[in-house]
Order: sequence, then structure tokens, then C-alpha cells
Amino acid sequence: MQIPLLDLKRQYETIKDEIDAAIAGVIDRSQFIGGETVERFEHNFAQYLNVKHVVSCGNGTDALEIALKALGVQKGDEVIVPAYTWVATANAVVNVGANPVFCDVDPTSYCMDFSLLESLITPKTKAIIPVHLYGHPADMKAILEIAKANNLKVLEDCAQAHAAEIQGAKVGTFGDAAIFSFFPTKNLGALGDGGAIVTNDAAIARSCFVERNQGQEMKHVHLTNGRNSRLDTLQAAVLDKKLPHLDSWTAKRIQVAQWYDSHLTLESIKKPQVLEGNKHVYHLYVIQTPKRDALKAYLSEKGVSSLIHYPKPLTALDVFQPQGQIKFPIVNKLSENILSIPMFPELSLDEVVYICDQIQQFLA
Ligand SMILES: *Cc1c(COP(=O)(O)O)cnc(C)c1O
Repeated sequence: MQIPLLDLKRQYETIKDEIDAAIAGVIDRSQFIGGETVERFEHNFAQYLNVKHVVSCGNGTDALEIALKALGVQKGDEVIVPAYTWVATANAVVNVGANPVFCDVDPTSYCMDFSLLESLITPKTKAIIPVHLYGHPADMKAILEIAKANNLKVLEDCAQAHAAEIQGAKVGTFGDAAIFSFFPTKNLGALGDGGAIVTNDAAIARSCFVERNQGQEMKHVHLTNGRNSRLDTLQAAVLDKKLPHLDSWTAKRIQVAQWYDSHLTLESIKKPQVLEGNKHVYHLYVIQTPKRDALKAYLSEKGVSSLIHYPKPLTALDVFQPQGQIKFPIVNKLSENILSIPMFPELSLDEVVYICDQIQQFLA
């Protein structure tokens, strides 16, 4: 058997007619930037999340930068980010002129450990970016309490957590604003790049709207320098067709995770945990074993793809060295032991059983 980490072709085959028709429709109308199709997707995504405003843009990294600016983050400010996340979260902070301050993660959820936050806050701290890593929600209740007490903004990074929930409310609806990525491999992915900022605050939405469009409030009225960052009409049309499938895809991811949970029985394998009250959407299924590197090589021989998300914590990257001040025991240990095994909605029970058998044979 050959089992990829993710198989986008299989998903496409299940909705080929809808996607092909959506693309043909855009070409037929030949409006390739903006227009009703983009507005319709923004509206539908807002309804899906139960949030007032969605401002789409070119990708998730742009969304982070645009949102940070809209939240008033400026040169010299500090922004607290988890030490374990995709590098984009911290790069965006640097690219608006601010300094990322890293927070170690919770050993169960792998999200920002809120109990460390207070020790990281200084007079320069302006905002916190919790990341719902691998699809598990960060502890928003605790983070929001600390943010409120210290007058800090909260920007949720939901790039890996479309449809994840805390007590029945979707992630992306808790902070002052949130960002999503529609990179093809994300739980809701386009056929190229895409991103969005979501918020219930009309003024923040307005600032994002202006920033993504050359600082224009309306044609030729420029409020700031802004930038150009747009969700293509083609991508919006595709995302609008995929959005109604997101709940069933998410349910299938959860089913696949349950299959893994029940077939990976060896004590030495640490499986993903879900903290009470949370809906984990398994962007990735990440296990831990001290024999990680050897297991990865063995799986590869057996036709099973796996990857390490991520080989190094951000605190170990040279580009962030000036802030790598204190020790980060949890992320350092994680980076040695974690392995992402195949996870996508179309994975079959037979494949999951095969993968589990290989893992258990090697580790037994
Ligand atoms: C993918 C990702 C981003 C960035 O999204 P792009 O669309 O690739 O720019 C940001 N944060 C996290 C946690 C991500 O996984």
C-alpha cells in the first residue's frame, strides 16, 4: 500500500462536477478580481462561523499582518505567540515591525500555555496570538481573561482549525479578530492561496478592508499606504462550493482520528488528547514516540508517508534568535518526538488499520 499524508485529488474527485462548474462560471463571466462571487463567499463564511465580518485576502500570512495592523500593533510593540506553530505566525509579527515573544505550549493540547502568559507580559506587550494548533482549540477563556486584565488585543490564528469549537462556538469568534488560511492543504482549502480576517468589530473590519486594497476607502481616496492582497474570484468560487462540505469532511476527520485512537494500543505511543469542552478538527494527527526518526524511516519503507510539524520550535530558529531568551522545555521535547501520520477525510478504515499495524509492529 502507498498512503500519502494527504490526498487532495481524492477530495476533488468527490466534488469534481461542482468545482468544474464553479470554475467555468467564473471564466464565463470573466470577472476575475472581486465582484459578487467574492462577496458571497465572505457572507457565507461569516454565517457559517457566526461572526459579523469576513474580509478575504491573498493568504493567511497577509491576513495576520493586516489584522495586526488593524489591531494597532506598531514598531517596537511586543506580541506573544506560541513557541510551536507554523513560522508565519511569528513572521507576521516581525513584518509589522513588532517583536514576537514566545510562550511554551501546554503538553496536552500543544497550544499556548496560558499559565505562562502573565510572566511574559511587559509594558510593551500589545497583543497575544493564540494558535489552534493541529486543529485543537487554544484555551480562549483563560487567554481572554488575562488579555482583558492587561488591556491586550487577542488575534486568533485559525489557519489549522476551520470548524473547531469551544463549548459549541466556532474558533475565530472569541478574539478581537481571527485569521484563516485557505492554503490547499488546510481543512478548508482553495486550489491555490487564499486567506481571511474575521471579526465582530466593524472598525477592525473596515481597517482590514482598507489595508488590503492599497489603503483605499473608496476609489482614489487613500487613508494609508496599504497593500494589495486579494482572494481571487476563482478561489472564492471554489471555496464557496467547498464550504457546504466542511462539516461532513470534519466529521470524517474525527472518524479517522477515532480509528487511529482505537487501533494504536501500545502504551509507548502518545496519541492526541482532546481537552474537555473542545472540538478537535484534526488538521493533523500527531503522535509522539521517542523512536520517531526510526519509525518515520520504517513507515516510508512500508509506503506510509509521515512528516514532522515542525522539526524545530520557533525559539530554535536563527531568524528569531534575539527573542530566544528563556527555556522552553515542552516545545523542545515535542520537536524530538512528534510525527504527523496520514490524515484526510477520504482515508479508509483499511488504510488506517494498515498504518496502525506498521506502527505497532515497529514499536512493539
Ligand atoms: C498555514 C498557516 C499560516 C499561514 O497561512 P498561508 O495561507 O500559508 O500564508 C499561518 N498560521 C498557521 C498556524 C498556519 O498553519
